[in-house]
Amino acid sequence: MPESKHILQRWPPLQAGGLFLLLYGVSAWLGMRLTPPGEHFSAIWPPSGVLLTALLLARGRHWPALLAAALVLEPLASAPGHWPTPGTLLLSADNALEALVGAFLLRRSVGLRPSLRRMRDVLGLLGLTVLLCPIISATPGATILALYGKVAWVDWWRQWRVFWVGDAMGVLLVAPLLLSWGAEDTVRWPRRRVVELGVLLLALVLTVNGAFQWAPATPSPHHPLPYAAFPFILWAALRFEARGTTLALLALAAVSVAHTLQGHGPFALAASDTLEATSAAATTASLLFLQSFLAAVGGSGLLLAAAVSEQGRAREKSERLNAELSQSLRELAATQRELVRRERMAAVGELSASVAHEVRNPLAVIANSVAALIRLSRPEANSTAWELLGVMGEEVERLDLLVNGLLDFARPLSPRLLFQPLGPVVEGALDSALRSENRPGPFLVTRALDPEVPEAPLDAQLLHRALNNLFLNALQAMPQGGTLQVGLGHAESPEGPPQAVITITDTGTGISPEVMRRLFEPFFTTKALGTGLGLAIVRGIIEAHHGQVAVKSTPGEGTTFTIRLPLTAEVPRELPRESPRDAPRA
Ligand code: ADP
Ligand code: MG
Repeated sequence: MPESKHILQRWPPLQAGGLFLLLYGVSAWLGMRLTPPGEHFSAIWPPSGVLLTALLLARGRHWPALLAAALVLEPLASAPGHWPTPGTLLLSADNALEALVGAFLLRRSVGLRPSLRRMRDVLGLLGLTVLLCPIISATPGATILALYGKVAWVDWWRQWRVFWVGDAMGVLLVAPLLLSWGAEDTVRWPRRRVVELGVLLLALVLTVNGAFQWAPATPSPHHPLPYAAFPFILWAALRFEARGTTLALLALAAVSVAHTLQGHGPFALAASDTLEATSAAATTASLLFLQSFLAAVGGSGLLLAAAVSEQGRAREKSERLNAELSQSLRELAATQRELVRRERMAAVGELSASVAHEVRNPLAVIANSVAALIRLSRPEANSTAWELLGVMGEEVERLDLLVNGLLDFARPLSPRLLFQPLGPVVEGALDSALRSENRPGPFLVTRALDPEVPEAPLDAQLLHRALNNLFLNALQAMPQGGTLQVGLGHAESPEGPPQAVITITDTGTGISPEVMRRLFEPFFTTKALGTGLGLAIVRGIIEAHHGQVAVKSTPGEGTTFTIRLPLTAEVPRELPRESPRDAPRA
């Protein structure tokens, strides 16, 4: 039985076999108790359901042992204290054959799952093992009795019916119950559901008991009271699927059979009401009527339960598919946004590159000319001209910075990743930022650089530029001075290789939510003399290293930038080691 297991299939074979012997013996004894005195076949023969279940759950190689045990046990349990005779052995072989054929057909054609949550499982069980197989075994069964002279040949047809109905009821009442309650792929019920099941069973027993107690024992063909059981079976099927239905059916059968055997209720016939010769035969006839009622109720209940289960599974599946679809759509939208961003970046980059190239040469000429003019002019001669020259010099310097920033931003990034220690790169970038940011401060700089961080694949020059931008931003965010903390460590990443982690924390102005939203946009700046390209460059460089940048900031308190870089590269490990040429150019 693929995909779905039964709890007994996890038991050791010896233990499961022991349980089978116990159940089989008890059910055979019970079956005998349900045989009206003077009759040969039981009105309900539960061992047929027990044996069928055992064969369905056991491995094929255990079948011979199970069948042999059933063959011997049935005559012993049904006639305690008597040795089996050839006749009783033949009868029990006939019963074993019935279970064998049923289990074989169900396994082959249905692939039955014990939870009975599929229509095909219930249809297979009802059609093959409740209807068909008992017919196959009733024929030899009645014949064996007649051959051994236990019944008259004229009685053959009646014996055949009793045999068929008894076995069919045994399968219908026992097999679905044992299968569904041990199945592992069933839904777990919350406590309230369990209480509800208890209430349902109690109400069913009380109602049916009342109906059978007070219904007159006359053979009225349209007695309304048995129908009182229907709402309970529907309730069980709708709310508790196969497990609830099998239990409700068992309760219904127990109460109604007990009453009918005592001659109570709408199915109980007296000998005078029927064509039967003896009162035992009349009881059997009553039980046959009752069985057809129970079979109809039980079969419909189990089918309804399977339909409810299938509907539930279909709903679950469509909900799961829906969730997956929404997730894919969200991912698609994010990818699309990222694509648009990258395209825009590429366009901005191209434009920046051409502008920067056009501006760079004339700017160099202007810068040289201004420098020459400053050298040639005498300050005291014309002080306004001198001042203006000074302003020109400053602005030319600023334009130069912008052009260099544009070129940095627009240059296609093709990092040369070499395994090397991160510490010196971090130190180098920090030192050059501290040197170039010549504002008064006072700055307190703390470094926590773990020397154990393994070498990482990186382009020292590019990473220097990125870190330098972050250090400059941090220092510029603390115009009144403050503390700059620099950290370097490493961490395991849940999805991917271990990472080096660089943190840069300042106690500066912090970043407002509006600025945060546009932080990495090129040309976005809040500074009078800013270019707004620093963080765009940082992001480009870190992404080229397959790393990530994250920001945390509290306005008024400060900001932390965290950079994560993979410690193993998608590029092969046997990369060339660092050579002096690749040391960062600050
Ligand atoms: P620029 O420094 O030229 O303004 P950036 O791209 O480097 O451009 O930074 C963009 C903006 O992000 C800055 O103008 C500033 O508002 C904000 N910012 C960046 N880093 C920090 C920081 N450490 N603290 C506060 N604000 C910051
Ligand atoms: Mg900056």
